[in-house]
Amino acid sequence: MNETYDVVVIGAGIHGAGVAQAAAAAGHSVLVLERSGIASGTSSRSSKLIHGGLRYLESRQFDLVRECLRERALLLNLAPELVRLVPFFIPIYRETRRRPWQLRIGLGVYRWLSADPSGRYATVARNRWHTLDGLSSEGLTHVFRYQDAQTDDAVLTGAVVRAARTLGAELKMPASFLCAELESHGCLIEYEHNGAKHCCRAKVLVNAAGPAVNKILTHCLPQPAPKAVELVQGTHIILDTPFRQGCYYVEAPHDGRAVFVMPWQGERLLIGTTEVGIDEGAEPTPTEGEIAYLQETASHYFPALGNLPVADAFAGARVLPHGDNRAFSRPRDTRLVTDRETQPRLLTIYGGKLTAYRLTAEKVMANISSSLPDRKPIADTRTMPLRPED
Ligand SMILES: Cc1cc2nc3c(=O)[nH]c(=O)nc-3n(C[C@H](O)[C@H](O)[C@H](O)COP(=O)(O)OP(=O)(O)OC[C@H]3O[C@@H](n4cnc5c(N)ncnc54)[C@H](O)[C@@H]3O)c2cc1C
Repeated sequence: MNETYDVVVIGAGIHGAGVAQAAAAAGHSVLVLERSGIASGTSSRSSKLIHGGLRYLESRQFDLVRECLRERALLLNLAPELVRLVPFFIPIYRETRRRPWQLRIGLGVYRWLSADPSGRYATVARNRWHTLDGLSSEGLTHVFRYQDAQTDDAVLTGAVVRAARTLGAELKMPASFLCAELESHGCLIEYEHNGAKHCCRAKVLVNAAGPAVNKILTHCLPQPAPKAVELVQGTHIILDTPFRQGCYYVEAPHDGRAVFVMPWQGERLLIGTTEVGIDEGAEPTPTEGEIAYLQETASHYFPALGNLPVADAFAGARVLPHGDNRAFSRPRDTRLVTDRETQPRLLTIYGGKLTAYRLTAEKVMANISSSLPDRKPIADTRTMPLRPED
C-alpha cells in the first residue's frame, strides 16, 4: 500500500523547508523530496541578507519591505546565532544618481516600516571616513549608516529543515519527484529514491522546486497552466580580504544598479549581484562579463580591491514574473498558485525572498488548509527557536 501524507513538499530549499516546518508544526504528516542536497539550489546562492530590501522602496514594493522587516525582527529573536545585525554604509559621491535627500527619505521610510525605534539611520562624520575599509574619498560628499541583517543562507535552511524534522517531518534525499496524478481529493506521487521508483499519496503537493517549478508542472496530470516567468541569474564574487566596519551599498558606475560589498565568513568579501536572463533548465553559472562588472564596481569604490584575484564566484536564479521592464524593477514578492480555488491538490511557490520564508509558509498553510484534515498543532513557527548544527 502507498504511504499517505497530509503534505508532500518538492524541494529542500528555504521555501520547502519553511513549508515542512509550518505543516509539521500544525500537526500534519509531511514528506520532503529533495533531489540533490539541502539548500543546493538558490538558497545557498543568495546575497545572504535578511532584510526588507531598501532598494525595493524605489519600485514601491512597500508591503514586501514591511513584511520582510517584520520577519527580520522575528528571526533576530528566534535565530540569534544565525541572523545578525550589521552596519551598512551608503557612500554618496558628486556623481551618484541617488541624491542625499532621496536616501534620507528612503532610510526614514525603511525605519518607519520596520516599526523598530533602534533602526535609526545616521551620517558618518567626515573625519571618520578614513576608517571605512579603504573607501575612496574622491568626490565623496556623504556617507549614510543604517543597520540590516546577514545570515548564512545554507546554514539557515539546514536549521529550518532540522526544526521540521524534530516536529516529525520526513526528508528523503536524494529523492527526485517524477510525476503526480491529481485525483479528486489529493495526489498520487511517483518519485525516485536510492535508484528505485516509489509511490505515495498526499492530500496536497507543494511545489517548492525554485527555478524548476514550471518543469515540475509539466509532470502533473492534468497539467496546470504554468505562470509566465523569467529566470534571471545573479552572480556573486568572493575576494580573500577582510572588511572590518560592515557592508557597503554602492551604485554600479556602469548602470546605476545597487551592488553590495560585504564581509563574509570573517576574512573574505562577498560582492554582488548581477541580473542576466537565462533559459529555463539552464544551470546558473557566473559569466566573465558578470565577474568583470562586479570587480570594476568594487574597485571603483575600493581601489585596493582592484589588485586582488577573484577567489570564487557563484550564481543563483531568481524566478521573476515575465515583463518588459528591467529585471531590477520587477516585483520580488512570492506568488502562490493553486490548481483550483477550493480544496487545492497542488500549490506552486513562485519567486520570493529568503527573509520572508516563514511568512510565505504561513500563507501556504492558509491556502491549503481546506484540503487538510483537522490536526492538533504541536508548535508555532513564530516562537520556535532555530539553531545551527552543533
Ligand atoms: C542572486 C540572488 C540573491 C538573492 N539574495 C537574497 C537576499 O539577500 N535575501 C533574501 O531574502 N532573498 C534573496 N534572494 C531570494 C532567495 O534566495 C530565494 O527566494 C530563495 O532562496 C528561493 O528558495 P526556494 O526554496 O524557492 O528555491 P531553491 O533554493 O532553488 O530550492 C529548490 C529545491 O528544489 C529541488 N528540486 C528541484 N527539482 C526537484 C525535483 N524534481 N525533485 C526533488 N527536488 C527538486 C532543488 O534541488 C532545490 O534544492 C536572492 C536570490 C538570488 C537569485
